[in-house]
Amino acid sequence: MNDVVVDKILRVIKKNKNKNVYDDGELTYTYGELDVFSDIIWQYIDSQKGNSNYIAAIGNNDFYSLCVLTACIKSGYIFVPIDSKNSDERIQNIIDDIKPKVIIRGSKCKEVGNSILFEDIINRNCISNTLTRKKNKYMYVIYTSGTTGIPKGVPISYSNIISFTSWFFHEKFNIYENERILLQASFSFDLSVMSWLTVLWLGKTLVAIPTEITTNYKKLRHWFNTVKFDLFISTPSFAYLVYISTNFNSYNYPWIKKFIFCGEEFNIKFAQKLITNFKNSKIFNTYGPTECTVAIIGTQITESLLKMDKLPIGEKRENIELIVGAENELQIVGDMVFDGYLNRKEETAKSFIEINAKKAYKTGDKVRILDNGYIFFDGRNDNQIKKNGYRIELEEVECIIKKIPEILNVVVLPIKNKANKIVGLSAFIVLEKQVSIDSSELLSKMQDILPLYMIPNKIHIIDEIPLTNNKKINRKLLELMN
Ligand code: AMP
Repeated sequence: MNDVVVDKILRVIKKNKNKNVYDDGELTYTYGELDVFSDIIWQYIDSQKGNSNYIAAIGNNDFYSLCVLTACIKSGYIFVPIDSKNSDERIQNIIDDIKPKVIIRGSKCKEVGNSILFEDIINRNCISNTLTRKKNKYMYVIYTSGTTGIPKGVPISYSNIISFTSWFFHEKFNIYENERILLQASFSFDLSVMSWLTVLWLGKTLVAIPTEITTNYKKLRHWFNTVKFDLFISTPSFAYLVYISTNFNSYNYPWIKKFIFCGEEFNIKFAQKLITNFKNSKIFNTYGPTECTVAIIGTQITESLLKMDKLPIGEKRENIELIVGAENELQIVGDMVFDGYLNRKEETAKSFIEINAKKAYKTGDKVRILDNGYIFFDGRNDNQIKKNGYRIELEEVECIIKKIPEILNVVVLPIKNKANKIVGLSAFIVLEKQVSIDSSELLSKMQDILPLYMIPNKIHIIDEIPLTNNKKINRKLLELMN
């Protein structure tokens, strides 16, 4: 399986030497440059001591992360992207879990432990003619939110990848016709795989929007007015941000021929606006957890689907078994399902169920499958949420906040807008006895230990956590205070 993937990608790199593989609107790099830089990184990795199979890349959606990824594909090491915007503690948790052979970071990233700057590797010029290649089952590990307060690693194998490509590249999406593919997400989110794998598999160009631009409306508008691409892959939240920041229609952006959304609910009202504004573009909704390799189902959103009260997340398909279990939970059997979390036997055991002697992954997502094959998402059966595309276990945020010595107890709830979309987090906090601290001090302590997207927008200091008659947290009552 490794050879199929590696040979395919290496052939694409060699064949497209002079073509751009990466373009962020300011800097462009060719496949030839990717080939050289990834070889240098491979040489550096090879020259280092240690038996670990993991290489960590701290960054966002930058070119050097693509170089480290390519070096890992060539050398057989397992690529572990870590978002530089994570708190130091979260980065350390991941490093402790994988104990990487090498940690590589970009010049804009803060210094971490034994990490080395990408630029320093490239300038070292350590040439070796005898590069060794490992054969690992896994291609990458992506960390997701964990209820225990520590992120959990999802290893994706080469065989998972083959299974994903044989569906995604041969489905109705007709990806072959596209040339320039948007990379919105950081490499540490599996949505990015949809973009980078398409590019490396088919010899296309990755058009990466620098993360600092995505938080500044003016810069975002400028970037969209100057950089062209034909396949828009993103979360619906990001597309909505572009929609409200620009005059987003096919007259102003005629080059956008297709949208593929994944990762969170695609609101029907927004879909209506996009279909009206981009009459000749195709729009798809896809669905999948990181644990099942990016996306497992998808469907084109057409005018006729807009008549329903919500949009389907996909359609039934071959080569994957979709079972609706107790409480309508979607359970998945097939080659795209991962083997289990890294170093987490207990959590792995909890996330699988045996059905007809086959291992089925319990998604925690409630779904309905209609007779016509359309599948609908009806929310979660636990406290996992999606905020602007970020997957968050509310228990993880609570566990981290509880580490603040002044805090005795905390419950975190999502804040929803009128359209029922999660737009923020609220923390209900009970302080330790005789402690006096205000919300702004608490917030600054939280900012030190939480990743940016987990920081609560509202803090309520309360005397005690309300309980229901059977002594569970009364979330409904807290919601009323939200
Ligand atoms: P992640 O592992 O970050 O990709 O998150 C996976 C979770 O995101 C799924 O289990 C769902 O809860 C949610 N999700 C993914 N795609 C969709 C979609 N198209 N519509 C609604 N929820 C989605």
